[in-house]
Amino acid sequence: MPPRPSAQLAFTVALTALGWGVLVGHGVHAGGFADRAGPVAFLGFVAVVAAARALAFRVGPSVLSLDSAFYVAAAVAVGPVAAGVMVAVTLSADALARPWFGPRRRDARMGERLLYAAYFGGMSGGLLAAIAALFARLDLAADLEVDVAIHVVLVGATFLIAHNALQGLRQVLGGQPWRRFVVDQAGPGMLAEGSLLPLAAVLALLFTARQQLAFAFLCATYLLVNFIFNRLARASHAWRARVRELEQLDHSARELARSIELPHVVATVARQVAQAIPAAETIALIHRGAERETDGFVVDAYDREHDAFSRVAIARGDGAAGRVVATLAPLAIDDLADSDVDLGPSGTDGVRSWLGVPLFVADACEGVLAVQSRTVGAFTASDQRLLASLALQVGAALQNAHLYTMAMVDGLTGLFVRRYFDARVDEEIERARRYGQAFAVVMIDIDDFKHLNDTHGHLIGDRVLREVAAAVKGELRGVDTAARYGGEELVIILPRTELVAAFALAERIRARIADRRIAVAADGPVLSVTASFGIAAYPDSGLGSAEDLVRRADRALYRAKRSGKNRVELYWADDSGTHRAIA
Ligand code: GH3
Ligand code: MG
Ligand code: MG
Repeated sequence: MPPRPSAQLAFTVALTALGWGVLVGHGVHAGGFADRAGPVAFLGFVAVVAAARALAFRVGPSVLSLDSAFYVAAAVAVGPVAAGVMVAVTLSADALARPWFGPRRRDARMGERLLYAAYFGGMSGGLLAAIAALFARLDLAADLEVDVAIHVVLVGATFLIAHNALQGLRQVLGGQPWRRFVVDQAGPGMLAEGSLLPLAAVLALLFTARQQLAFAFLCATYLLVNFIFNRLARASHAWRARVRELEQLDHSARELARSIELPHVVATVARQVAQAIPAAETIALIHRGAERETDGFVVDAYDREHDAFSRVAIARGDGAAGRVVATLAPLAIDDLADSDVDLGPSGTDGVRSWLGVPLFVADACEGVLAVQSRTVGAFTASDQRLLASLALQVGAALQNAHLYTMAMVDGLTGLFVRRYFDARVDEEIERARRYGQAFAVVMIDIDDFKHLNDTHGHLIGDRVLREVAAAVKGELRGVDTAARYGGEELVIILPRTELVAAFALAERIRARIADRRIAVAADGPVLSVTASFGIAAYPDSGLGSAEDLVRRADRALYRAKRSGKNRVELYWADDSGTHRAIA
């Protein structure tokens, strides 16, 4: 059913008027509001109901307070109108005050809040008065004790059913599914309140029999029951939340332990934080990048709604994250509109809540883990605790990614290092043997590089080396691996590639390097270089170990150098050379 706020509004206004109308009408008709109650008893009832409301507790998604049984006792004891007015006044005041004590719904508008308070008090009080007045006319048993007990049970059951039906109808008019209201609110509420009706009967009896002391003691017991329910509900809520947190942390620790390379870490962090903190609309991992080259930060943001990642660079001191880094402490902003913090370039339009915790890597703050939402006050203290625990794991994962990059990627060329190549080529030959697949190794050496260094200097030599590496990478598939083998020697592993196919690829790379013009400075010389290639493949170049294969590629490279450079040479098993492929 689509939400129909106007229908809900009309219903609310009508029941507010009806509820208060019943009370005033009955009061005028009865010649006063006090019925059988004196002012002391009236105030005493108000105090007990207010205390019961203050002890309201959470059951699942709804809030319960076990006060209905007490109103019913009051309605039978002091009369329908006095009880109805007492309920109306207390519940209105409670509904008005409640948002100031809880974190939720603080953003509801004042007008809405006033109307709801008037509705909730008037409807409940009017309903109680009407039902109690209806049953008060009936003489149900000759014996006073039995008469009071039956009255309490009948008034109580009717009130609970009618009250929940009206509340449910109002929610359905507001667009909520009725089934959820019944399962989450009405069901548990009626069960808990109904179970207190026997206590209500005894309260009413004691009051009717003018047993004031016993009545007062039982009021205290009634509140004690409320208090115990409240504590139990809180404890169960707290440990359930804690168990969920621990399960979440355990799960994210496993996932992060499986992430070594930075892109994988970024994706895993986004997924895990999104799962841990459902209110998070955007998750931002603010860190120094895998190589930590600069002092600035990159923001890897994940937008949950669009399932999209984005990356921007920011300065270390920027925005809310900058404040976390400066203070080394978590920062929770309930409403950015009321705060002096500027989110900086990482901020998205309409963000109201922001929560960020520092990321420590070996005792140094290396970034911030943050969540944001367009809702005011979206994040709780438990969200903050969970985010801080996750941040410990994320810090360790970032450190691993950094070490991995430092250890495996060459800083100058951005290609893998020799050690990584050695491990990969061993793996590849193992796989080739097991599955009978071909694979090729290409050795590359830049021609006359010493001369280029001697003429233009090593710095320019480095630039040229980087350009050559970029040209190599530009021709590779995702499954290929390029590494820096030594000084200006590069090497490529081409899985599932035979010697002739490897030749075609090497030719493309050779031409690309030879065609490249490298402008060294704005007004400096434009350089060009060439390179020589030697290729060996398994099994075309013969069987043997990975080492044998690399040695054969090197032999072919040597032949390329000897026969004029800027060319590609192959190593066939019979050492026959490239002419066999081209012929
Ligand atoms: P060719 O290979 O054509 O036989 O001649 P070459 O001059 O390139 O000879 P070789 O491959 O033996 O020379 C290696 C030179 O490459 C030595 C050194 O000056 C240079 N080199 C090696 N590593 C680097 C580096 O990281 N940066 C720079 N700028 N130069 C390097
Ligand atoms: Mg060379
Ligand atoms: Mg060399």
